[in-house]
Parts: sequence; C-alpha cells; structure tokens
Amino acid sequence: MIKYSLICSEKHEFEAWFSNSSDYDVQKSKLLIGCPYCSSTKIEKAIMAPNIASSRKKEEITMKKNRNLSDLNSVIGKLRQHIKDKFEYVGDKFPEEARAIHYGEKEERKIYGEASLDEAKNLHDEGISLSPIPELASPKNKKKLN
Ligand SMILES: [Zn+2]
Repeated sequence: MIKYSLICSEKHEFEAWFSNSSDYDVQKSKLLIGCPYCSSTKIEKAIMAPNIASSRKKEEITMKKNRNLSDLNSVIGKLRQHIKDKFEYVGDKFPEEARAIHYGEKEERKIYGEASLDEAKNLHDEGISLSPIPELASPKNKKKLN
C-alpha cells in the first residue's frame, strides 16, 4: 500500500491509499479518483517535502539554544569570577555581615556568601540590597564559587 497526498484542480488537498504507484495511474486515467470536497477528477500528486525542512529547522533551533546556553554560561562564569576577585567571601555569615555593613557597624565593602531564602527576604525587607548569584546552567561547570 502506498499513500499519496493529492490535490485537485480546485487546490483541495487530500490523501488516498493505492496498492502501488501504477494503481494510482490506472485509477487516475479511468477518472476513478475524485476529490472528496468537490468531486473533481482532475487530480495531481501534491508535492511533498516538509519533513526534511522541518527536521533541519529543529536542528537549527537546537544549535541556537546550545549557543545561547554557552554564551550565558560564559557570562555567568565571568560574573562569578568577578565576584570572586573583587568581593570578600563571608560564607554563611553573609546575613550578619550584610546587616553590619548596612547599619554602619562595619566598614562598607563588597561581600558575598550564603543566605537562605528567608534570610535573603528579611535582608531585602530591611532595605539591604542583595542579588542572587546565578548558577551555571551546564552541569560540567557546576563547581562552587568558594
Ligand atoms: Zn476539490
């Protein structure tokens, strides 16, 4: 069995099964194939090529995604390196230190460290600005900042 996409003279597209390609020719010459929409017997095989095009497109999209991801990773990598170079690591004392600096108990400096979501929220509520350091998206770069 073979399935053809067919198109009639009125541009209606439909599909039909034939036992083989000559079966199609025979039926067509005897005007046995009629358009299901307008009954026209002026039928042609529709030109088909969509699968190749769409799979190529998918490949392009995947490549683009990968490229964006590696761009993002390199940006995040640079950001993390910058923080590591310029900021003082205070570990889980981050909330304390951030508060001490905010309230003038300690000299102002750039710090980074760990804080739970709740702690981060509390700090934020107290008017202390902080921002999360983004994680790298790719697992192979998943090393700790400290
Ligand atoms: Zn038709």
